[in-house]
Amino acid sequence: LGKKINDALQKLNKDYNFDESQIKKALKEIQLALLQSDVNVNYVKQLSDNILQKFKMEEGQMINKKKVIQQSVVQELTKMLDSKKQPFQLKRGKPNVIMFVGLQGAGKTTTCAKYANYWKKKGWRTSLICADTFRAGSFNQLYQLAMKIRVPFYGNITETDPVAIAVEGVKILQKQNSEIIIIDTSGRHMQESELFDEMKQIYSAVCPNECIFVMDGSNGQACFNQAQAFKKAVEVGSVILTKLDGHSKGGGALSAVAATESPVIFLGTGEHIDDLESFKAESFVRRLLGLEDFKHMIEAVSEVVDIKSQKQSLKQIQKGQFTLRDLQQNYKSILKMGSLNQFMGMIPGIQNISQGQISEKEQIDRIKKSLIIMDSMSEDELDGITQITQKQLFRISKGSGQPIEKVNQLIEEQKIFTRTLKKVIPSIKDCDSKTKRN
Ligand code: GDP
Ligand code: MG
Repeated sequence: LGKKINDALQKLNKDYNFDESQIKKALKEIQLALLQSDVNVNYVKQLSDNILQKFKMEEGQMINKKKVIQQSVVQELTKMLDSKKQPFQLKRGKPNVIMFVGLQGAGKTTTCAKYANYWKKKGWRTSLICADTFRAGSFNQLYQLAMKIRVPFYGNITETDPVAIAVEGVKILQKQNSEIIIIDTSGRHMQESELFDEMKQIYSAVCPNECIFVMDGSNGQACFNQAQAFKKAVEVGSVILTKLDGHSKGGGALSAVAATESPVIFLGTGEHIDDLESFKAESFVRRLLGLEDFKHMIEAVSEVVDIKSQKQSLKQIQKGQFTLRDLQQNYKSILKMGSLNQFMGMIPGIQNISQGQISEKEQIDRIKKSLIIMDSMSEDELDGITQITQKQLFRISKGSGQPIEKVNQLIEEQKIFTRTLKKVIPSIKDCDSKTKRN
């Protein structure tokens, strides 16, 4: 999509004195690209009208027309993703009952577990209830996931009434002081009205604090009707779009927001339990358009940097410094959280599991070895105050019991981090100043 839009803009650039008719031609191509990305027809029209209007208004002052239009596309799409409704705020120390709804195969069960795990890592007491009595394997699927992430689970394989299970589950888990009680419901097909009846019954019986609609984000133009049908049946509070890994179609998100008038809160980006990203409209649009998403990357960095040293580290990182000590802290928090994160996958040149180069276990082993190596470094070496020369290399290798190549590899990694961050920083500043200006 990004490429197509850029191609359209590129043509504009070639024409020196381009006028309204040429802009219109470029907009036609942008429209086509958006339609192919499943963006609803009405929005596409609205979006290009807005851009054309803006163009007419500011034509005299435009220096770089290509950039102005590109920015307008980003802004307009971001605006459309803003539901203007605040997402539900979880309350500490209280039982927040969250019900998940969506069609069969949308990714509800997987997402329930990802969601539980996400908040558990942030220190919340979460739990899972299986209120799907329709599909035989559901109980086991959620039970296994609950065991994996170690959160309390409630289900009843002999009970056939999902309403009874949900009510009983909430009662029991409330008593155990669970703060986020997640109810997984059954999903059937669009045509089956029983799904909607059953969902409504569970909804009115447990009165959840929040109802999250899970939708397969790669569903294309069908997303709008689907989202609307759910919105009509229950009070959808927010949306999670799944299966947004590996393809750049994002029209589903726009449709979901419009149909439910609710915010998208997370994206599912893979089958792994950690493949859940908090949703940021502008980042999403930039990625959709193929504009590199550096803001997002910095957020990922700040998520893994130890909270205590976060402020200081971030300041340094923003200056483009990423020392071995920063790397050490990152690695420590990765181990503490017990899983890898988006951060590792974002650095080009570093072998990572997201690109399938090595397994998660191998990656963790490597991180552990790197930490052992860093334990043999001096404070000044970690902080980048003294250079690590050949002599120090030997000392560190001997001290840590790791081969020289491994030490070298680690130092190389740190350099890649620094280089990547240096590239990132100017565009963050650029982004920030743009947002301020508007
Ligand atoms: P449910 O019927 O709505 O409960 O859907 P499930 O949670 O059972 O998921 C259906 C399938 O989609 C499973 O094979 C999941 O592994 C897969 N899945 C769920 N979320 C994602 C995602 O974000 N990305 C990918 N690639 N697969 C997903
Ligand atoms: Mg399920």
